[in-house]
Amino acid sequence: PDRLWQRKLREQFPIVTAHPESAYLDSAATSQKPQAVLDAVHAYLTTTNANAGRGTYPWANRTTRLVEETRERVKEFLGDPEPGRSTVHFTSGTSEGLRTVARDWLVPYLRDGDEILVPFADHRANLDPWLEARRLLAERGVGIQVRALPHQAVSGDYDHRALGGLVGPRTRFVAATHVHHVYGGDMNVHRIREAVGPDVPICLDAAQSVGHLPVDLADPALDVDFVVFSGHKAMALPGTGAVWARNARGPGFRPAGWRGTPNTVGIVSLGAALDWLDEAGADRIARWTDGLTTRLTDRLRHLDPYEILGCPTSLAADSALPAAQRRHGIVTFRHRDIPSDDLGFILYSHGFMVRADSLCQAGADDEKGSVRVSLHVYNTVEEIDRLLAVLTSLA
Ligand code: PMP
Repeated sequence: PDRLWQRKLREQFPIVTAHPESAYLDSAATSQKPQAVLDAVHAYLTTTNANAGRGTYPWANRTTRLVEETRERVKEFLGDPEPGRSTVHFTSGTSEGLRTVARDWLVPYLRDGDEILVPFADHRANLDPWLEARRLLAERGVGIQVRALPHQAVSGDYDHRALGGLVGPRTRFVAATHVHHVYGGDMNVHRIREAVGPDVPICLDAAQSVGHLPVDLADPALDVDFVVFSGHKAMALPGTGAVWARNARGPGFRPAGWRGTPNTVGIVSLGAALDWLDEAGADRIARWTDGLTTRLTDRLRHLDPYEILGCPTSLAADSALPAAQRRHGIVTFRHRDIPSDDLGFILYSHGFMVRADSLCQAGADDEKGSVRVSLHVYNTVEEIDRLLAVLTSLA
């Protein structure tokens, strides 16, 4: 039944069905778009297009309404338990979202001597803004400590035990990642909450989880204060993303400054994308991509020249692990003898579009020389088997 379900969904991606000889395996960079999103964009641009919030005529009013409805849609999609209190701010993606939280919320919130904990081995987008905040504060004579969230050397997960020792009375903020963009692992943010206690705001980079796994803010295990994600990785148009802010700890989130014209068509595409994802079902999407991921890793880990980066916390095959410990749709590996660029070209000559070499990981040399395969619901068992056949032939 899952295969039938998946085939129906895959058929809704025109770019995917137009290239049956190719396989798009770079969804962690950006996702492909289903027909429903393309239709919503076309309908908006051919019936309604206007600027938001400044018209006295129906197209402008309708545009304003669509933007506001999408804001509420984001809250609903994330399972926001208190939508009357929270804020949704639209951005061009996760990078701009994290920068906005840093500049407009964190900088005014911190005081001299405060400490923050941020990831030094996740995506750069989740490090640079916090370092920039420290610089801006220093210019104003406010000194803060930026500490690195400790990682476990092998699994890539945070070292939650070591974390306890880093938390003190001046710890005022933590930035974390939901699903790691190189290792694909769930970073177990509930354990960060346990370590820092109930009062410290946590900002979650959810670029690799929204649209892939259930992200449910009503779940006590996801007691975070910001969720930042990229719409374009979740079926919406390029140049889309959002910041959700709970506004329960610290000052409320009010992005500063003159914001100009919003990306109205992008916001419309995001609304349509979230509708589409809800209809497909996050649970089911996760089950599908987790299945493909374990099919790939269970075989690849036995192919001698390949090393898979970051590994589950036990030495068991991914398929034997509980879902929370598996890789979610992202597998990064290297070949002992073939440089990553070459491996990328070889794979492309067989129709596989993967990410080679630079994965924008902060600090770490880990990713160097590696190739990343990342999946979404349009990918198939056949694609994984074809990929494994090519990888085996290179072993
Ligand atoms: N954080 C993570 C974990 C990511 O995977 C990415 C995208 N590669 C980003 C942030 C940056 O997202 P965007 O390109 O939408 O700004």
